[in-house]
Order: sequence, then structure tokens, then C-alpha cells
Amino acid sequence: MMLVLIKNALILPIDDAMSVIDNGYVHIDGDTIVAAGAGAAPEIPNAEIIDADGDLVMPGMVNPHCHMAMTLFRGLGEDVDDRLYRYVLPMERKFVTPEMVRVGTELAALELIEAGVTTVADMYYFETEVGRVVDRAGFRGVVGQTIADFNPPDHKTIDEGFALAEQLVAEFAGHDRVIPSIAPHAPYSTDIAVMNRVARWAEDHPDVPVQIHLAEMDSEMEWCAKNHGMRPVEVVDKAGLLRKGLICAHCLHVNESDIAKMAHAQVCVAHNARSNAKAGRGIAPVEAMRKAGIPVGIATDGPMSGNTLDLFSQFAPVTMFQKLLGHSRKPMPAVDVIRMATIEGARVLGLDRKLGSLEPGKKADLIRIDLSAPRMQPVYDIYASLMFSAMPVDVRDVMVAGKWLMRGREVLSLERRKVMRDALQIAGQFKAEMARIDAAG
Ligand SMILES: [Zn+2]
Repeated sequence: MMLVLIKNALILPIDDAMSVIDNGYVHIDGDTIVAAGAGAAPEIPNAEIIDADGDLVMPGMVNPHCHMAMTLFRGLGEDVDDRLYRYVLPMERKFVTPEMVRVGTELAALELIEAGVTTVADMYYFETEVGRVVDRAGFRGVVGQTIADFNPPDHKTIDEGFALAEQLVAEFAGHDRVIPSIAPHAPYSTDIAVMNRVARWAEDHPDVPVQIHLAEMDSEMEWCAKNHGMRPVEVVDKAGLLRKGLICAHCLHVNESDIAKMAHAQVCVAHNARSNAKAGRGIAPVEAMRKAGIPVGIATDGPMSGNTLDLFSQFAPVTMFQKLLGHSRKPMPAVDVIRMATIEGARVLGLDRKLGSLEPGKKADLIRIDLSAPRMQPVYDIYASLMFSAMPVDVRDVMVAGKWLMRGREVLSLERRKVMRDALQIAGQFKAEMARIDAAG
């Protein structure tokens, strides 16, 4: 077994006390953390010794809502008001193949690892391809096969959608890092009968997490009111899907009674601040949901909606929007934000017993962050520095399950040049198609 000892590090174990350990060490045996503490590092014969030279060591970050393959759509038609119907949906139907999903997900994997994200929850199409990329790239993924009734690229009927979910489960059941998941797209794109079928299917697959977009848009509110005379949370509840561990993305349009229902059902929330703001959708009541006991993680949404997949670029909007809501500097302090990015995000995915903190028995998923950039100094409150000053380029090393995925900013588990070349080649096809659409008027 590989033994690793990281010493002379500023350690954020993300324990209950949110301790800050100056000059500490982390001892790793195989894929597991044996010890993390202050003071002189223990003598460990045959260990790889890493002198962190005062750099920060903390748990890898958790991004609980993403559509990784959509990196290939990043920035496309950004200022075109009807870009979804003009470009994206027709192009998804034309271009989304297993190969495109592989290439887009590899680009995302490179970006995530470079940014210190070690666990991601994804929902898209041809999700077995996504699982395979996560497997090869060495990080962790909750990979969700989307089920929707709008004729998506990989299934014409709901039965076909469930068959894809079954295949995904068959391929990855028991995998240490790739967790198969099922993702009914949203209330308006599945409706009660399909959501109910997912709920019953999930009863038979207790280890398969369920993900859904929920209470995200005004049009969703209108759809739920018109078709069921209810609010989105109530529609999901009526379908029997508001169940323990349900990973709900967005949850902007939730009132006090919705929040009480969600807390009672023990659902979890993935908060997508930048994506929500870019579309002008509103501000999720994050503080109220957390106060009610609902775990909330910090997510990016897909790169078309949120552009980047790192959590650093989410931190400022996450805290600022709650401060704006509260007309005060106090809401959503830095320790809470970093907690949400780590252990609370892990809890959203049902993985907090396994990861999210640097504590004995946890999986060795950790990142080393260089604090030497001028914008990172001085440090009075390391959590505030992380929230407002740190950027993905500051992440120097990344370890998942005891294996280095990045050392000295070089990703070891993916061929960077090939990933970029494949992505740009498909982007060229997208550009040509956009030109064709524009020429057609
Ligand atoms: Zn989404």
C-alpha cells in the first residue's frame, strides 16, 4: 500500500469546529486518511514525504450539479435571447452522440481536476460515457441518466430512458468512485406519472441517488399551477418523489411551506448561484433552507448556464446574493461557504461519511492550494481568502482516493493536448452549424 505523509501544511480539516491547523500534517495509507493533525509529523517508514512548505491542504471540493458534456456549448449564443430554441436544442438533437459526450466530459474533467473539484454530480445523456470518463480520469462522480419527455438525444420513449438507467447501474454497480444515478429532468418535462415511476424504481434501487431540477423557473411555476394547481415542490411530493436523499437542483421558488416539506422529506439542494443570476431567475433562499436543516451544496450547473465548473467562481455570488437579500454583511459567512463546498456538498450526495473532510477513516480526497499569489496575501481569515481571493490556478496538487491526479498543476490522468484537440474539433462543427442556422435566417 502507498503511504503518503504531507507535512508543514496549513490544514483545513473541515471538522465540526472548522479548525485551522497551522503547520500540520496528513497521513494517508492507500486510499484512506489515517491521521490529520497539528505539530510534528509522525515518523512513517517508507512513506512518500511531501513538504507542503506552508501551502493550504483541504478536502477536495464537491460540485453537486453539473452537465459536464455541455462544455462544448460553453459561451455559445450567449447574448441571443432565444439561444435555447435557435441553437441549443436543434444542435443537441443533431450532435449529441456518445462520442460528443465523451469529448465534452473529458474537457470538463480536465477543468474540474485543475480547479480542485474531486466529486461532481452530473446529469446528461449517454451517461455511461460520462461514467467511463470519470472512471478513467480518476475523480468521483454521481452520474445521472436523464429521463425526459421532450425527445432528448438518447431516448425516444420513457421506457428507453429507464433502460438506459438500468444499463448505467449494471455497468457501475459497486464501483468505488462512479455512482450511477437516475435523473428525471424536471417536473414539467416528466410530469407526475413518470416521477412516480422513478420513485418506485428508486425503491428497488436504494443505492441509486435521484437528481432533479426543481423550482427553477417562472415558466415551471406557471406549468405546475396550470396543470396541477400546485407549486413545483407540491407536484414532486404528490408524485411520491419528494423522498430522503433526493438531490434537488436550484430550488429558487420555494416558500416557507415548501421548505418545511423539503426538510421533513429530508431532500438535499444543489445551489447554482451564477447560473441562476445569469438567466435572471432569482435568488434561492439558501439561508432559510439551511436553517430548516436542508443540506445545501455549491454547484455550477452546466457550462452553458454557468460557464465555469470550478467552485471558486461561485463563492462570491453565493455569499453576495444572501447579503443582498439580508441587506447586511452578515449572511453566509466564509466558513459556511467553504463548508458547503466540501462536507455539506458531500452530504447533499449522501457521501459525507466517506468524504468531505480530512478526518481519520475518510477517503484521501484532498487538494493543495498555493497561497503565494499577491492576491492571496495577507491572510487574516483563510476562509475569507478562499471565498474572495482564491482562483482555480492556485490549486497545485489534487489527490483522489490516495492517487495524485494533478501534481504541480500537471494533470496526470488525462492527455491534455488530446482532450483539447478533440474538443476544438467538435466546436468547429458547432460553429459551422451556427453559421448555417444564421444564414437560414
Ligand atoms: Zn442543470
